[in-house]
Amino acid sequence: MKNNYKKRVAYFCMEYGIDQRLPLYAGGLGILAGDYLKAAYDLDLPIVGIGILWWQDYTKQLIGPDGYPYDTYPVHDYSFLEDTGKRVTVQISGEDVLCRIFKADQFNNKELYLLDTGKPGTKHGWITDKLYSGSNYDRIAQEIVLGIGGIRALRELGIEVDLYHFNEGHAAFAGLELIREKMELENKIFEQALEETREEVIFTTHTPVPAGNEAHDLQLLIEMDANNSLTYEQLKRIGGDPFNMTAACLRMSYLANGVSRLHGETAKKMWGHLDNAAKIISITNGVHRKSWQRKEIAEAYANNNDKELWSAHLEAKKRLADFVASRTDARLNPENLIIGFARRAAPYKRSELIFRDAEAIDDLLRTGKVQLVFSGKAHPNDHYGKDIVATLVKMDRKYRNNVVFLENYDIEIASYLIPGVDVWLNNPRRPMEASGTSGMKAAMNGVLNLSVLDGWVAEGPTHNVSGWILDMVFASLEEKLNEDEKDLQALYKILREEVIPIYYDDRDRWIRMMKASIKMAQEQFSAGRMLRDYYEKMYNKLSEVIEAERKKIIVDRKEDKVTVLIR
Ligand SMILES: *Cc1c(COP(=O)(O)O)cnc(C)c1O
Repeated sequence: MKNNYKKRVAYFCMEYGIDQRLPLYAGGLGILAGDYLKAAYDLDLPIVGIGILWWQDYTKQLIGPDGYPYDTYPVHDYSFLEDTGKRVTVQISGEDVLCRIFKADQFNNKELYLLDTGKPGTKHGWITDKLYSGSNYDRIAQEIVLGIGGIRALRELGIEVDLYHFNEGHAAFAGLELIREKMELENKIFEQALEETREEVIFTTHTPVPAGNEAHDLQLLIEMDANNSLTYEQLKRIGGDPFNMTAACLRMSYLANGVSRLHGETAKKMWGHLDNAAKIISITNGVHRKSWQRKEIAEAYANNNDKELWSAHLEAKKRLADFVASRTDARLNPENLIIGFARRAAPYKRSELIFRDAEAIDDLLRTGKVQLVFSGKAHPNDHYGKDIVATLVKMDRKYRNNVVFLENYDIEIASYLIPGVDVWLNNPRRPMEASGTSGMKAAMNGVLNLSVLDGWVAEGPTHNVSGWILDMVFASLEEKLNEDEKDLQALYKILREEVIPIYYDDRDRWIRMMKASIKMAQEQFSAGRMLRDYYEKMYNKLSEVIEAERKKIIVDRKEDKVTVLIR
């Protein structure tokens, strides 16, 4: 197998969630990147990661006495990281900005190189202070460091690379540096430099809604030196004006992917109009088993021992109850049904949906027949998201022991919460979730997904076999309901008619569903499978795809449709 996995890959990502001690992530994108580097380590693949050392993380969420979430920004202590001693410089708005390069490889992950422009308070410390906050100007500066600085870091470290994998559009400027190198060092003309860059770039898109794809004013990019010595016309040719980071990555690569089958199709439709752009396929996300699956659960499942599986599950629930007790004054009852929900509090994820008709489930919550545990941060500027958190906190205070909100969602909370519940709830608006990964972590631990049909779920749990899908009961609901109402009615219906009766009255059936869920997740949704897919369907396939695409271009050209210059 090893022989087929020789391509050396540099993976670029704005965020990484590898370990509790290294908080450089906002959510799923970062955790995915962390799992990718850990699976690469397990499989001993020639991959390195490039990222940014965020001194103040994304935000530390504190719930005020008024029940509203506040953002705080402590400066973290990263003295445990190795300073490589190597430095690179990037130009930002006419100034030279020096970047230190730190290395993180102590978490059983392939080396992650982190660029840093200095601690907050130092001259250029404003660039690598907070992830995803600040103005457009700040964001562009950060992306110059990640992209242009990232390529220079690889050169400075002497790391040889066959392919550059841009995980999400933030890394687009790395492509501009690859082009500049070829023009300045090898005297290539722009078109040829672009063409050769496309031969070594792989792109993964994660954003199924047009507004979520970052775009910047081209004039501002040029003022800030993000153009990296390319002209206005050349930049426009790559990313348009405004310069769309996703479009740019698609035009600087031949092969790109969405992160679930459904999202791959959505991405194809979204970007189908783009000229001279990458072919889009799908590679479904996966999660790192050793990080997210409890050993006791894996063993009980492997032994095919139902009693052992149930007691491992109950143990995980007790562990969660103890964790909750250590952080709040709520006391969960591990014998009763617990439903978990933890995600970024982005409005489309509808964290508070289950409370939209709180009276309808008041009896369940009052008696503790159903217990709910929530966690999730809102983006610092997202007031709707913060209102959602405030609603959850209000419910926490109303239903003392039976509804819990854990503040400041992070890897540690996830590792207690996800395996420690019976049911994992997921109800985003459609089609908004590119993949979602927490449900995979849940399924791997025998926690049953109760979910809308979107992202990974469309190829994951089977209704009534390894989870429950809201969409499967729509036929029995009134047709005129809108999406929110339909999902809410379906959610209550499945809760009352399936989840609760099976949990309390048919334990054997519940355990059968747990096993079906573990089997499905282990076989289909591990990060190991994901990495093999990246090699077999992308890294190793690239030259084949390029050849096929060029043939297509030649045919188009005969029909006089060609707009691209080919060698
Ligand atoms: C898995 C995970 C996520 C991503 O969850 P989604 O289901 O994709 O929203 C976010 N944050 C943490 C801490 C996680 O462990």
